[in-house]
Amino acid sequence: MPDLQAVLAANEKLSEEILSPHADQVDQSRQFPRENLNALGKNGVLGLLVPLEFGGVGATLSEMSLALGAQSKHCASTAMITLMHFCSTVVIASKGNDALKQKVLPAAASGGHLSTLAFSEAGSGGHFYTPISEVRDNGNGKGKCLSANKSFVTSAGEADSYIVSARKASATGPTEVNLYLISKDTNGLLTRGRFEGLGLTGNASAPMSLQEIVIDDDTRLGAEGSGFQTMLEVVLPHFQIGVASISLGIATAAFQAITTRVGARRYEHSGGAALASIPRVQYLTAEMAIELNSARAYLNETIRKALAGDPAAMVDVLGVKAKAAEACLGIVSRAMMLGGGWAFGRRGGLERLFRDAQAAAVMAPSTDVLKDFIGKACLGLPLF
Ligand SMILES: Cc1cc2nc3c(=O)[nH]c(=O)nc-3n(C[C@H](O)[C@H](O)[C@H](O)COP(=O)(O)OP(=O)(O)OC[C@H]3O[C@@H](n4cnc5c(N)ncnc54)[C@H](O)[C@@H]3O)c2cc1C
Repeated sequence: MPDLQAVLAANEKLSEEILSPHADQVDQSRQFPRENLNALGKNGVLGLLVPLEFGGVGATLSEMSLALGAQSKHCASTAMITLMHFCSTVVIASKGNDALKQKVLPAAASGGHLSTLAFSEAGSGGHFYTPISEVRDNGNGKGKCLSANKSFVTSAGEADSYIVSARKASATGPTEVNLYLISKDTNGLLTRGRFEGLGLTGNASAPMSLQEIVIDDDTRLGAEGSGFQTMLEVVLPHFQIGVASISLGIATAAFQAITTRVGARRYEHSGGAALASIPRVQYLTAEMAIELNSARAYLNETIRKALAGDPAAMVDVLGVKAKAAEACLGIVSRAMMLGGGWAFGRRGGLERLFRDAQAAAVMAPSTDVLKDFIGKACLGLPLF
């Protein structure tokens, strides 16, 4: 049985020794970091959220956050791929039938299976929980078919399985959703080009389409029409806390890089005076430290509430991704300014962090949509 602390220690070591030296190459070549994932998989990291009975680590949101924070300090593309895989394995563990669990979870635990989520569609944009795609019942016992166009899928064409959302057959509203586990070798499942994002360039985000795929009820995750609840109750807490953890990993890396740089930068024209001796630079550094620490405290408090089953956790689960994304953008932007030409070029690695930092705010639910939800929740209004 894998030991939790050993897996977390291996994750930390691999992040420093494998993810870090490959990060610039992954970013610039837009290459899927297969080598990183193989190493993480072999050391049990991809089984972090797989239950013990399937050979996984059986960890919680708390350890997930630590693992993603460590990875994203070095390679945020790898961390985002890992997060999508984590979200997928928790859905399979909590909603899959025995056959689906046996098919995916032991293989995921030993690093032989990568999974991801294919939810977003152009027709509903950031409101990913309300797909437009529908399952069609062919009638007369001729089975069901699914056709769907998914707009952004992390690990597209690279994952071994995809959790795909669609409205159930004859749905009467947008929240009557089913989730299906679709294997990579399913006829009619296609990756459509590349997305070419500004940041997280290594995570093979791309549109995918499913054309007239014959759907078997045995591949459905959860009861008929229960997909919307699963997205809110199972996916959302992991995704939100995971993205927040990645944002704070990026922000930590930027803070460490800029404090090292500022500490070393000296000017001959003023007799070797240090950049660090300028009060305004000290003030900006203090602001970054305060922002990072307060966002981290909010993340830890949200995880504590979520694990305790506190009914108030939901608002914080929504808020924490928004807060971490904003903190990260603020810290990385400030670090870029303090780093001057060194930061603007590629040498220091800050410009990659600056680009990677942009994704969290637009990944659904976006920061604006989250604030819309939180405002409604605080005012006692219905969220949907
Ligand atoms: C790097 C990356 C990886 C991704 N990986 C995956 C993945 O693996 N699987 C997956 O399913 N999806 C994935 N996505 C998709 C993502 O989650 C979003 O669905 C997608 O970014 C939304 O894009 P859109 O352009 O359709 O947004 P739009 O819906 O066009 O929204 C545009 C803007 O309008 C604002 N807006 C919209 N509605 C409201 C409202 N009611 N109130 C306030 N503001 C509003 C939003 O803030 C948003 O920023 C990924 C996205 C990125 C960037």
